[in-house]
Amino acid sequence: MTTTYEVLALRYGSHADRTARQNFIIADPHDAPMPLDYFVWAIRGGGRTFVVDTGFSHALAARRGRKLDTMPDEMLARAGIVAGEVEDVIVTHLHYDHAGNLGMFPKARFHVQDAEMAFCTGRCMCHPYIKLPMEADHVVDAVRLLYDGRLAFHDGDAEIAPGVSLHLIGGHAGGLQVVRVRTDRGYVVLASDATHFWANIRTGMPFPLVVDVVKLLEGYRKVEALADGPDHVIPGHDPLVRTRFPSHPASAEIVRLDLDPIA
Ligand SMILES: [Zn+2]
Ligand SMILES: [Zn+2]
Repeated sequence: MTTTYEVLALRYGSHADRTARQNFIIADPHDAPMPLDYFVWAIRGGGRTFVVDTGFSHALAARRGRKLDTMPDEMLARAGIVAGEVEDVIVTHLHYDHAGNLGMFPKARFHVQDAEMAFCTGRCMCHPYIKLPMEADHVVDAVRLLYDGRLAFHDGDAEIAPGVSLHLIGGHAGGLQVVRVRTDRGYVVLASDATHFWANIRTGMPFPLVVDVVKLLEGYRKVEALADGPDHVIPGHDPLVRTRFPSHPASAEIVRLDLDPIA
């Protein structure tokens, strides 16, 4: 039997005080409020649970002026997922809002791209602009996991379970990976920061954090090709995600991406 999965977006924080000019590489002349949400994601099916990204901490939220509403492990608990029991965590990339709290998952192996680990431990981090969204502590945590034998490396495309695959997308970081998941409504792609908002991919106008614009733009095409339609591409930070999909009974901050959009 073909395995299909439940896919959840769990919103744990936000950056409300922000306008459109901060979200596009060429500033939008019609500047208007355009807040950003922070998510972790979860995939369940075939007897397995995958957590995608691990969020940031209260201390980091305070330092970076972000709002952390609920710690990611508490959000996961609301959906019935015990962080301490999770066996597979996919880290899309090591930016501060995606790769904190690795210690929350003491039994997990962490799936990363070769290119991302090379990126965050090499000469790219000599540049303040590239280093801006990174935290040395997160990278050190990842290196410790490496030496503990708990990193699973991937180089490009990799199927990690029937119907769950990772795909390297260039441009935003050194080795960002998106996650393609088979659901009852078709293949959904958790795009993470391959596109922050639906507006980025739909207008072809990237978010300003970019290491290679051409690769990022080509990444939009790859993400679209992997997904079974525009509503199957799930942006990494778009508050519209929470209004477009049905909420989980446990929390209005959790939505079901494997179900058809409601708006
Ligand atoms: Zn990022
Ligand atoms: Zn991000």
